[in-house]
Amino acid sequence: MIYKEFGRTGKMVSALGFGGMRFPLKDGKYDYDYCTEMIHEASRLGINYFDTAPFYNNDQSEIIFGNAFEAMPNDFFVSTKCSSLSGDELRTSLEKSLTRLKVPKINFFHIWCVMKLEDFEKRMAPGGPYEELLKAREEGLIEHICVSTHCAGAEIAEIASRRLFDGITLGYNIINYKYRQEGMKAAFANGAAVVTMNPLGGGLVTDNPEYFSYIKDIDDMDTLDAAIRFNASHREITVVLTGMDSIEHVQRNVSSVEMPLSIEYVEKAIERTGNHAVKAMDALCTGCRYCEHCPVEIPVSKLMQAYNYNILADAKSVKANLRNHWGVPQEIAGTCIECGLCEEKCTQHLPIIERLKEIACF
Ligand code: SF4
Ligand code: SF4
Repeated sequence: MIYKEFGRTGKMVSALGFGGMRFPLKDGKYDYDYCTEMIHEASRLGINYFDTAPFYNNDQSEIIFGNAFEAMPNDFFVSTKCSSLSGDELRTSLEKSLTRLKVPKINFFHIWCVMKLEDFEKRMAPGGPYEELLKAREEGLIEHICVSTHCAGAEIAEIASRRLFDGITLGYNIINYKYRQEGMKAAFANGAAVVTMNPLGGGLVTDNPEYFSYIKDIDDMDTLDAAIRFNASHREITVVLTGMDSIEHVQRNVSSVEMPLSIEYVEKAIERTGNHAVKAMDALCTGCRYCEHCPVEIPVSKLMQAYNYNILADAKSVKANLRNHWGVPQEIAGTCIECGLCEEKCTQHLPIIERLKEIACF
């Protein structure tokens, strides 16, 4: 396993992190013993960064980790989160996480799911979540304060420039890198660790290996390896988080990250992506979310990310993605009043209105 320093903290963390949002269900229930085996196998293979949150896996993720942590094969760090806007609620959530995870302190506690700067400022307001975390750190209940965000690159750069966080967790992959790169680089430049989530583009990369095969280097075993290696090879990225749903999946992802990492690989993949963009990448929604704030509250970015499947697979897959991944009813696409606001803001210049009409009829 490759280890990297977590920002300025002096802690050495594994380049691959265990994302605890995809534990498998068996006959509709979690097999807690099997989940413990998965986590212990990850620990034996050198993973020492374990990421969870309240509500992951029907609110069972922290409990699953807590069971496993009682007898971990090796030392580990745990990351969890809270999205509350209130300091009191954050405190309640933190205490619950400590109990469920069965640890005396949280190593990396995240202000969770910051969607825009306005939202960020609310978390930082006097008496709010950030102040509560400072108190918790004084008390030894947490070690490091981090932030997890879905903002665009420039907004992440603004957050990073305050130098208040030991780590910044953000979605980053071969599809959306252009919109987050500025923030990712700014986080690194300001001394924060960079943890990336969603390295497989919400499954888009692995579900469409042929389409994304251009990101492979000559030695890569397959597109999944290439996508993980793309993130892990960035010198600015400390941990690549992947959700894993079986022991084999853990072993597989560990071997992906153990391939030689190089900045040259990143540069080549970006170059090949640029060439490929001429043909097709500009038809894909990248999930940048600039199209938000629809006056009739259509979740445009979710619908457009689902529409990607119409380009990469078929209309049936769009419906499945809307239902199973986003939880968005297909019919909402038919409520568009064609004001054009989202198309004006779309960074990919996608024909959103036309696509919504198509989705409504799929
Ligand atoms: S064009 Fe339709 S989807 Fe886009 S912002 Fe206007 S109403 Fe919403
Ligand atoms: S529709 Fe356009 S603006 Fe909206 S998320 Fe997709 S690429 Fe970004």
